[in-house]
Amino acid sequence: MREKWKSPVAVTRSSLPPLEEYVEMLKPLWESAWLTNMGDYHEQFKEQLKGRLKADNLELFVNGHMALELALQALELEGEVITTPFSFASTTHAIVRNRLTPVFCDINGRDYTLDADLLEGCITSRTCAIVPVHVYGNLCDVEKIQEIADKHGLKVIYDAAHTFGELLDGRGVAEFGDMSMFSFHATKVFHSIEGGAVAYRDQSLGQRLYQLKNFGIMDSETVEYVGANGKMNEFQAAMGLCNLRHVEEEIEKRGRLVKRYRERLSGVEGIRLCPENPRVRSNHAYMPVVFEGFRKNRDQVFEELAQRNIHARKYFYPCINSYACYRGQFDEQGTPVAARISRQVLTLPLYAGLEPEVVDLVCDTILG
Ligand SMILES: *Cc1c(COP(=O)(O)O)cnc(C)c1O
Repeated sequence: MREKWKSPVAVTRSSLPPLEEYVEMLKPLWESAWLTNMGDYHEQFKEQLKGRLKADNLELFVNGHMALELALQALELEGEVITTPFSFASTTHAIVRNRLTPVFCDINGRDYTLDADLLEGCITSRTCAIVPVHVYGNLCDVEKIQEIADKHGLKVIYDAAHTFGELLDGRGVAEFGDMSMFSFHATKVFHSIEGGAVAYRDQSLGQRLYQLKNFGIMDSETVEYVGANGKMNEFQAAMGLCNLRHVEEEIEKRGRLVKRYRERLSGVEGIRLCPENPRVRSNHAYMPVVFEGFRKNRDQVFEELAQRNIHARKYFYPCINSYACYRGQFDEQGTPVAARISRQVLTLPLYAGLEPEVVDLVCDTILG
């Protein structure tokens, strides 16, 4: 019975459309030889995403990180940007690479997003923007954040990398803040191999976002900005278009697995799961579990799973404000909740093709 589990179980596995579907999509590319630079698939993908994400305005990028970095550049910000250290490297790097100064606000201990009660205390006369993260697909307190941003005249740019297709009271997550960045990396719920998008409110930013991903080029003789190469190519867009046809089913399958995990792990002393928000339609991106006062600590559980060839992920660990590249600049002590959660959290294997029996084995191992 254990035989098939001798092969390793990774924390995630990229979803793939039937090969013939993708190959069919490639044929026109061989005919036109138009492989990148805003081709037909790029435009189709962009239109379909606008509908799917309920975004009035949207620009595609080669990956989520470039999308965030260039979104911040498009806003021509200066000074301090408030963000959280409990995220992927990309969030803070995008701020720093824009020569902006990150200021770390702590997270709340409930859903691990920015603690909106601490937000105002982080604002100074140099603050220009807030970059909150919808961690694991848990939506930030968008209402309170907007209220504070409005009061202080700050831009809000969400790292929405984890929230593809999520809804709050029926509204798309792309509708909140000035901008939202989505990642379509191979490991995300929905992907285009690599890829990303920025949904934005102010329509007049569209031209600048477009130019910034194309070296800042305005026309054949005018280069207006110090841009980058952030263009999504046709092979990526083709994968995105294929995956869009199957993403609902993927999310449904993930949902069933999450339910199984929850049935086994909720109510266990020392194990904390994120609360389910009845206002949110979840995409079941991750299965985070926090071990606090449990018989075994996080690292023990991680090791026991690894011994069974099951690879959970310490996600996010360490906190960004304790990275080697930021040594001496920031202090993890300033964000104690993030520091604590990063030492207690594991995300468990979760992908559409994961066998329910493996979910049981993971739970047996944790509880055993
Ligand atoms: C994946 C991810 C990114 C970066 O996206 P890429 O498409 O991999 O560049 C940024 N922020 C968070 C929270 C992510 O999970």
